[in-house]
Amino acid sequence: MEETFREDLIFVGGAWQQGRGAPIASVFAAEGVENTTISGASAEDVEAAITRAEAAQPAWGALKPHERATVLYRISERIAANVERIAWVQSRDTSKTISETRALAASAAGTFRYFAAVAETLDDVLTVPRGDYATASVHEPLGLVAAITPWNSPIASDAQKVAPALAAGNAVLLKPSSWSPLVGLELARIVEEAGLPAGLLSVLPGSGRVVGNVLVDHPAIAKVSFTGGTETGRRLAHGAAAKLMPVSLELGGKSPTIVFADCDMDLAVAGVLFGIFSSSGQSCIAGSRLFVERGIYDAFVARLVQATEALVVGHPFDAKTQVSSLVHPEHRESVEGYVALARDEGGEVLTGGARPDGERFAQGAYYLPTIIAGLDNSARTCREEIFGPVLVVMPFDDEADVIAMANDNDYGLACGIWSRDHLRCNRVARAIRAGTVWINTYKQFSISTPFGGDGESGMGREKGRAGLRAYQRQKSIYEDLSGEPHPWARWPVND
Ligand code: NAD
Repeated sequence: MEETFREDLIFVGGAWQQGRGAPIASVFAAEGVENTTISGASAEDVEAAITRAEAAQPAWGALKPHERATVLYRISERIAANVERIAWVQSRDTSKTISETRALAASAAGTFRYFAAVAETLDDVLTVPRGDYATASVHEPLGLVAAITPWNSPIASDAQKVAPALAAGNAVLLKPSSWSPLVGLELARIVEEAGLPAGLLSVLPGSGRVVGNVLVDHPAIAKVSFTGGTETGRRLAHGAAAKLMPVSLELGGKSPTIVFADCDMDLAVAGVLFGIFSSSGQSCIAGSRLFVERGIYDAFVARLVQATEALVVGHPFDAKTQVSSLVHPEHRESVEGYVALARDEGGEVLTGGARPDGERFAQGAYYLPTIIAGLDNSARTCREEIFGPVLVVMPFDDEADVIAMANDNDYGLACGIWSRDHLRCNRVARAIRAGTVWINTYKQFSISTPFGGDGESGMGREKGRAGLRAYQRQKSIYEDLSGEPHPWARWPVND
């Protein structure tokens, strides 16, 4: 069946209506064509969504967790039944390969199922009393939560915020990126069909400056969960500080991959390739700084270059494609700017460093997988996030040397280690400053394992059972068991 784009409507607190904000063009960068243009949300649309969320949230928050879970299970099933549709929309919106967007859609179904199960099974606790009272620690919804997401993996990052926030009893206002405005609206359709009460979810595509700022500054919004670039996150944290509002920030990365001489070379080459060039490098956890032990440096880099040149660069809907178009022509310009910078800094381009030749690439925003050598870890190319298919390789001498270089970066999101020495792998894993470390693997994800960054990569953790608690406030309750007046009051008075 030929898929089509839906009519120009956004989801404002359960009502489908035309946005009153600026138009947003969704482009299919792989072919250089426009998908559709939608009318984005205005500040008034955000206000309306907040009013409807405020009306709907108390009843949802008062439900028992297992009652909320029932709806989340239904959402999970509807996502699973619509994987093909979501994948198609996302591949058109972001130019990601169809195999990846299918996997992302399936993972979103898993995320709703997981948080339904977490909601049903998380216990409040009775704490150990230190007097004649019973003490309990209980959790309650925050109220209204804003979720602000980037363009690179929308259905997965949207689900990662919407599922735990709803499971925790909140209403959610989701603002997707203007480069991927369509996927969140597909999620809204599914959530509505699954029977989530109206008002609990709004999907408000629009600019960060309008929709994002209104959400962050609004007194009714109790938390912002943000995934995106570090500079945007920093600005948002300033706004949150003014309200003393909790904020979680999943930000950028410049993650090191460390290859020791005793690694299994075939595993390491495949893992390094996947770590940097899958998703065309447009991944926060991309392993973009590669450190190779000097003894195998030349041999390893030669194999890596050979394997990189064998990668299939192609159309996102071709099942054989490994590296697809970048999300947007403007983003390719930014990546090209970084490769020019690397050359200025004295870097040697070992492979790539250009757009692919050929008529079939002419209209798309394609860029060849690129490997650069000859740079020092202090070069800007090695310090700043490129968010494209660009890998920098550097040699190292010993464990202490590579730990120092890996940690010498403002980001702290992820790290990969390749070695057959398991004791060393564990030692290095503990010494690296990163939210996630992979040993002899890379870019594996599980909804049951917490994820987040340190330093400029952000603060707070998503996923895991505690991921639901991040959308609740904690309350302690003391109840007297003595039945006696407090002795301090000396009451009733005895002569
Ligand atoms: P971005 O920071 O430009 O935008 C992210 C979101 O913030 C978008 O929805 C955008 O419209 C919104 N926004 C922009 N200005 C705003 C403002 N003033 N107030 C509120 N919201 C505002 O990021 P991007 O280019 O969409 O995404 C790429 C970045 O996301 C990369 O840095 C990548 O590393 C990061 N990322 C991080 C993770 C993670 O989990 N750590 C995952 C994916 C992407």
